[in-house]
Amino acid sequence: RLQIEAVSKKFDAEYAVREVSLDIADGEFMVLLGPSGCGKSTLLRMIAGLEEPSSGRILVGDVDVTDAAPQRRDLAMVFQSYALYPHLSVARNIGFPLRARRRPKAEIAQRVAEVSATLEISALLERRPVALSGGQRQRVALARAMVRDPGAFLMDEPLSNLDAKLRSATRAELIALHDRLGATFLYVTHDQVEAMTMATRIALLNEGRIEQCGTPEELYDHPRSTFVAGFLGSPP
Ligand code: ATP
Ligand code: MG
Repeated sequence: RLQIEAVSKKFDAEYAVREVSLDIADGEFMVLLGPSGCGKSTLLRMIAGLEEPSSGRILVGDVDVTDAAPQRRDLAMVFQSYALYPHLSVARNIGFPLRARRRPKAEIAQRVAEVSATLEISALLERRPVALSGGQRQRVALARAMVRDPGAFLMDEPLSNLDAKLRSATRAELIALHDRLGATFLYVTHDQVEAMTMATRIALLNEGRIEQCGTPEELYDHPRSTFVAGFLGSPP
């Protein structure tokens, strides 16, 4: 369970995120949706521990992690840019979070083999990231996030660098992966179609606030404001 309690972030005098509260149950596929600049990435970065909230609290499974370092939260983040280490092989990229925690070599090798098999990238383990396609890089980034078996995955527009065909294929794979892992996904996108097809619940943000939170059907059929209706293309 992931609890976000009245979290705000101010950059200088401007609020990027304003009093956002969200309660995310285990196993949800929660999508943070909204237009560019509405505060999605800032909110995700605060949950990951990469940005400090100006006020509010963040709890992971009833533990207050508001001031905890990123590696002390039971979370893994997948970035839009994938953020792979260019000088390391795919295998070493995937194993990195375990090496950083000084896990035994045999355990690291076994976990790398397991997650690579799951994502069907076992044949790529000796390559460097530069020798991979965008879709393959995206899988390696996912594998690296999976290797520690985190309680929740935070993803910031992980498909935005893929072409339309690969994007829809990967979307289906992510849904299947979510079903298989039973983990909590918190997924940022500005793409309504992506949100409507993947989410168990959508939190629609506008100017740093949550406009509406609910299932895709609730938001589409019963938009609470003209902003929600307009953003989702609900019939008038
Ligand atoms: P996009 O869909 O374009 O990625 P977003 O919803 O992720 O947008 P954020 O990156 O969270 O938006 O930014 C929210 C607001 O906060 C924007 O107005 C942005 O300019 C501002 N902002 C973000 N990071 C900083 C920063 N480090 N310093 C100052 N302002 C910032
Ligand atoms: Mg963003």
